[in-house]
Amino acid sequence: MAEQGDDDYIKCARCRCKYHNNDESIKDNFGFNRLHEQLKTCVKCRNRSKQYQQDNFEKLAQKRHQYWIDNKDTINAQRQELIRTADESNGTVKYCNRCYKNKPVIDFVCPNGKSYNACYPCLERKYG
Ligand SMILES: [Zn+2]
Ligand SMILES: [Zn+2]
Repeated sequence: MAEQGDDDYIKCARCRCKYHNNDESIKDNFGFNRLHEQLKTCVKCRNRSKQYQQDNFEKLAQKRHQYWIDNKDTINAQRQELIRTADESNGTVKYCNRCYKNKPVIDFVCPNGKSYNACYPCLERKYG
């Protein structure tokens, strides 16, 4: 049996399916984001989760809301802590008030050179 190097295949980060590592296959099975980076999950997985979210929109929103109610204090405390860390980072990280994460400041710079209180990936998700 011929040995296949890992370079011959790319794995989907979610279903672990292997796809051929060539331009054509990557284009068909993964696709690229706006920065022309290869997406980490395959088209099948992305469609599946999109479909799931559409089918269960109400349920998922309710679940998120319930989680928020149950863990409000913890979540708030974690967010305050992140905001504090960002404030003390000397401008190296910034707190995104949409994904509630600290990210490198560079992630907040939009193509127009401005930056907002949400990171660019979050803004892109909304407007892209
Ligand atoms: Zn997949
Ligand atoms: Zn964000």
